[in-house]
Amino acid sequence: MTRGRTATSTGGEPAHSGVVILRRVPDSFHMTPDEFRRHGHAVVDWVADYMERVGELPVLAQVEPGEIRARMPDAAPEEPEPFEALIDDLDEVVLPGITHWQSPGWFAYFPANASGPSILGELVAAGLGAQGMLWATSPALTEIENQVLDWLVDLLGLPQAWKTAVGPGGGVIQMSASDSTHVVHVVARENAVARGASTDDLVAYGSSQAHSSVERGARIAGFRHVRLLEVDAAHALRPDSLQVAVTDDLAGGRVPTIVTSAIGTTATGAVDPVAQISAISREHGLWHHVDAAWAGAAMCCAEHRRHQAGTEHADSYTFNPHKWLFTNFDCNVLWVADRAPLITTLSTQPPYLRNAASESGAVIDYRDWHVPLGRRFRALKLWWVLRSYGARGLRHHIREHIALAQEIGRRVDEHPALERIAPVSFALVCFRHVAGDAETDALAAAINATATVYVTASAIEDVRFIRVSVGQTHTTRADVERLWSAIADGVGSAG
Ligand SMILES: *Cc1c(COP(=O)(O)O)cnc(C)c1O
Repeated sequence: MTRGRTATSTGGEPAHSGVVILRRVPDSFHMTPDEFRRHGHAVVDWVADYMERVGELPVLAQVEPGEIRARMPDAAPEEPEPFEALIDDLDEVVLPGITHWQSPGWFAYFPANASGPSILGELVAAGLGAQGMLWATSPALTEIENQVLDWLVDLLGLPQAWKTAVGPGGGVIQMSASDSTHVVHVVARENAVARGASTDDLVAYGSSQAHSSVERGARIAGFRHVRLLEVDAAHALRPDSLQVAVTDDLAGGRVPTIVTSAIGTTATGAVDPVAQISAISREHGLWHHVDAAWAGAAMCCAEHRRHQAGTEHADSYTFNPHKWLFTNFDCNVLWVADRAPLITTLSTQPPYLRNAASESGAVIDYRDWHVPLGRRFRALKLWWVLRSYGARGLRHHIREHIALAQEIGRRVDEHPALERIAPVSFALVCFRHVAGDAETDALAAAINATATVYVTASAIEDVRFIRVSVGQTHTTRADVERLWSAIADGVGSAG
């Protein structure tokens, strides 16, 4: 029997046997609001159940390549399927292939946090389905984003001039830190070209520990020269190496254009000397971009803001609420100290986008602030996170994660078979097995084989080490104890 989708699309007709056969009138295959309500409640229940049980699932997906795909039919269904079947397949098809970033046993990479208010914000943004490319295409999308990012300026202790309400700077939500870093390289290039430089001569700088998005963003922006400079013993960029490189490039007829400093590198959480890099940048007219993709979240807590001293002279700053600030991917923030060059670089004026509000100059059209034209309502989930947690809630959880990381650091220091390879930075602990690389890798494998926690094995200058990043939304002391048991047991088997 064909299942009728809506009450009005089916009619009864007696067959020879006297059985009533439903005859489908295919006037609509859409889900009705009532069906949406019913299935929506079931889906929310499914997600809530997932939140309750995610801590019991093996953190790392346990499937072989191709295994998930093989669970799916070879072709899309010709006939509509009941929605219940779709929900069932979350357990049958999807979950086996999920690595559980939302497990409280997640200590790998950096977090990619979700939270209740953020998930619900995503749902409503999808429900509204609005497009915020221009102020006029949904004023709430732009104005809420303006206001929420201005709030964040205060929450993170950043310069007042970066607020859109104050200016000349402003903030914009982008998809990723990589996008933001790429875009500022494009803007810095255009600034240099406008001053008469040739693109071939432009030079971009970062440290050897800069995130790969710095080199990639620069290359995609057309930089032929990207210098990844020497770091000190704490893996932070050495200002003298920047000074020397800039002097050499000037002597060689090249044009030093942009430098990226990191507050919290990906490998070890190192903090580059932002103030000294700012001073060199100002002396030589370089654009200074600050990458605080992960550690920016810690700036909610005033005790960490010393690490961003000098940021008031930076030209741009990027930070990912989608890492540690309980906001679902994607949600990256880029602030620029002056929005004029950004808009000049990225703006075009096709006739179909012209409108009175834009021409009045009284509104912000975010399409001019990034590469895509269209944009969804990402500010909603961030707004809901900030309101639902309150600044106090955010500080509470960030501080708790940092305290737990420091505790792990102390235990590593006390353990005769373990040594840190870098200072504990914010909520990141990097250590190795004193016996060497093979033992370190064996230890990481033993920890991950418990399947109840997950850490990352990495290397810096050929020295293998283990990265433990504390910061999953729901990680607590109990999870850290579980991690520590896995480490202590693993040292026994690895050593
Ligand atoms: C994670 C990270 C990035 C990249 O972030 P995306 O949003 O995934 O592009 C850049 N820089 C640093 C320091 C990071 O930790």
